[in-house]
Amino acid sequence: RQALGSLGKSRAKFISAEESTGVTFADFAGQEYIKRELQEIVRILKNDEEFQDKGIYCPKGVLLHGPPGTGKTLLAKAIAGEAGLPFFAANGTDFVEMFVGVAASRVKDLFASARSFAPSIIFIDEIDAIGSKRGGPDIGGGGAEREQGLLQILTEMDGFKVSTSQVLVIGATNRLDILDPALLRKGRFDKIIRVGLPSKYGRLAILKVHARNKMFRSEAEKEALLQEVAELTEDFTGAELQNILNEAGILTARKDLDYIGQDELLEALKRSNLWPDIVIPTFYPILQQKGTFETGQEDSTEIPEELKLRLAYREAAVAVLACYFPDPYRPFTQTDIKMIRSQPNMCYAETPGKVFSRKSDYVNSIVRACAPRVIEEEMFGVDNLCWISSKATLEASRLAEFLILQTGMTAFGKAYYRNQSDLVPNLAAKLEALRDEYMRYAVDKCSSVLREYHLAVETITDILLEKGEIKSEEIWDIYKRAPRIPQPAVGPVDEYGALIYAGRWGIHGISLPG
Ligand code: ADP
Repeated sequence: RQALGSLGKSRAKFISAEESTGVTFADFAGQEYIKRELQEIVRILKNDEEFQDKGIYCPKGVLLHGPPGTGKTLLAKAIAGEAGLPFFAANGTDFVEMFVGVAASRVKDLFASARSFAPSIIFIDEIDAIGSKRGGPDIGGGGAEREQGLLQILTEMDGFKVSTSQVLVIGATNRLDILDPALLRKGRFDKIIRVGLPSKYGRLAILKVHARNKMFRSEAEKEALLQEVAELTEDFTGAELQNILNEAGILTARKDLDYIGQDELLEALKRSNLWPDIVIPTFYPILQQKGTFETGQEDSTEIPEELKLRLAYREAAVAVLACYFPDPYRPFTQTDIKMIRSQPNMCYAETPGKVFSRKSDYVNSIVRACAPRVIEEEMFGVDNLCWISSKATLEASRLAEFLILQTGMTAFGKAYYRNQSDLVPNLAAKLEALRDEYMRYAVDKCSSVLREYHLAVETITDILLEKGEIKSEEIWDIYKRAPRIPQPAVGPVDEYGALIYAGRWGIHGISLPG
């Protein structure tokens, strides 16, 4: 094992497994789905063999993106802590210097050290400082140097094999939009996790984590006070909430009081710059408000946080597919996340005139229909699907069946349908197999499009979460401008983008009726 001294060069901070175990997922509150995703990764890291038998491998890189102070660093430490692995923390800005060759050699050092302690975790905060788009505007200078550093990261990540002694690289950024798409390719940071602002329930949970070591008059009063704070702190990050409680603690000590009370919390809130005086001049009277905020339960007017996120992703995925395979007879107009339905909320305009659909149009419509299911599986995991995507598979297979049975455009042709199973042995099984082939192609193609346009999906999701809705012009603008992450081709396809079937089962041996 190599001495830690060499780390001096890379400026990274080394935290041993023993130290890092201090932080666990229990320290991160709210946004439970993030923990679920990361717990899965920890399970793979800890118990490689069981998963490798099943062909499940740990991603090489996890990218956490979201506003500062939302707990990205905390999560990276928690992964190291839960897995009991040594943790190497660096900052993207550490690598950026004016001296030629420094960035690349620092990256090399960092990976070399991490590898000698493998399995281990590298955390690169503000990865955008080194990993921003090549050829873009040179913010802060040192462009060529930074590019060398970025190339070195790519080389290092491509270089190591996925094996028991692996290094997991976790990156964090609040500028997903300026990252070089090369970083997000498969085999690099291929797991992208959004860490957003906490909801009201998330805020309460975060406050409780940070109130663990604070004194309150009673459990009941603590609960009531924290609920009030959660209620009043929309748009606060976890770090800001933690700060409110710390401030309140300091004020309490300064006043020589034994317990944090309403006054101290209010004062702390007022001191935080984020607290606009005009909004609420006084604290809600606690007792009068009782009952409006039941912990862990969602009130009926508010869409639960995770569902909102799932809806936003679903709509964003549907939008991206609608741009990729535009339907000239049904241009989309806008979408929103204001309604929870089992089908997408995307609105379409009908255009007058006769519809002229070709085989490729039918096939593309199957691909589009898969979007809700594919994105949900991609973002939340196959074991965490929920009913908002459940109709998608149904719709896609219905379209595939229509193509096969009703259009006469596939190998079977329409003529062979209608109870002529005596003419074609096992007709039903063959039709089913053909439908499954179309479905497989549709799912593969859809997921390839969503990976290629992942940055557009994230941007549209951001806007939906922020504004609740988005119009077609803005969707098209994002779609056209977002950097694309190159993907391998999906096939087999013929020149119309449909599968090649002719001759697969053949039509020989089938005599036409009549
Ligand atoms: P980021 O890396 O996203 O900028 P940090 O992880 O540095 O944010 O967050 C700073 C601190 O804020 C954390 O150490 C933690 O104490 C607190 N914090 C932020 N988000 C959360 C959360 N979801 N739950 C608990 N604490 C949080």
